[in-house]
Amino acid sequence: MPDVLYINGRFTTTDERVLGVEDRGFQFGDAVYEVFKFLGGRPVFLPDHFRRLDRGLRDIDIRNPWTESTLASTVKELLRRTAFDHGIVYIQVSRGEGERAHFYPDDMKPTVIAYSRRFEFPDAAKKERGIRLITTGDQRWQLCCVKSVNLLANALAKKRAQRAGADEALLLDSGFVREGASSNFFAVRNGRLGTHPLDEHILAGIVRAHAIGLAIGAKIPVDELPLREAELFDMDEAFITSTTQGIMPVTELDGRIIGSSGRGEITARLQRLFDEEERRDAGV
Ligand code: PLP
Repeated sequence: MPDVLYINGRFTTTDERVLGVEDRGFQFGDAVYEVFKFLGGRPVFLPDHFRRLDRGLRDIDIRNPWTESTLASTVKELLRRTAFDHGIVYIQVSRGEGERAHFYPDDMKPTVIAYSRRFEFPDAAKKERGIRLITTGDQRWQLCCVKSVNLLANALAKKRAQRAGADEALLLDSGFVREGASSNFFAVRNGRLGTHPLDEHILAGIVRAHAIGLAIGAKIPVDELPLREAELFDMDEAFITSTTQGIMPVTELDGRIIGSSGRGEITARLQRLFDEEERRDAGV
């Protein structure tokens, strides 16, 4: 069944072919995107996603077609037209369509799309079981803080993980642990959380920010410092964060069991707090 699609000011469905072949998002990866979750027909952390979209567009010199309130009303209408209550919304803003050339005119009209999609969020058993990671080199560009649609290096890393029987790839660069191919990474050691600081090497994950806030609120100290590769051998617990996975325990890394096997205590506590926060935000 096709999904509800918003494009450039009108609603249609995803079975309509809407993009021109000379759209710069298609030819140059000249676009940014967002993914947010909705529960009970209501968006989760929408203002956070708007702010990150706005920052990313500014970083790559594309005019933001939305204000926080026009995005909120577009999303409200999109979800009103959506036949299911839980899922994700994918948003993409490209620089627009025009004759193919590296130089882009300053006044391009952005191509704006948003569509809702069903999504199987992890159930209680999966949240307890956790996931396996492999480590691999970070082959991405040098502005990973921009949620750009240039996801080739991420996709190749994820495929390597899948071929190795794992769920996610942990990206290593210059001796440091950056983040997952589609998630942020946290290590727990001696009751403290460690995660990469916000800079050009990682995406400022929305769930990452909430996890840090919840940890601080629960008096769990957080160190936003780059983790060295060698420290991966000395963790009590680990987890990843992302919109679709929430807080997800990592139980195995490159085939080695982390900590005392199974989901760690701090991870489980943050997971509970985060799930409550999401539901509170959606008002369900
Ligand atoms: N890092 C990367 C590279 C990602 O692609 C994602 C999500 O897609 C994240 C981190 C997590 O971000 P968020 O928590 O906003 O979903």
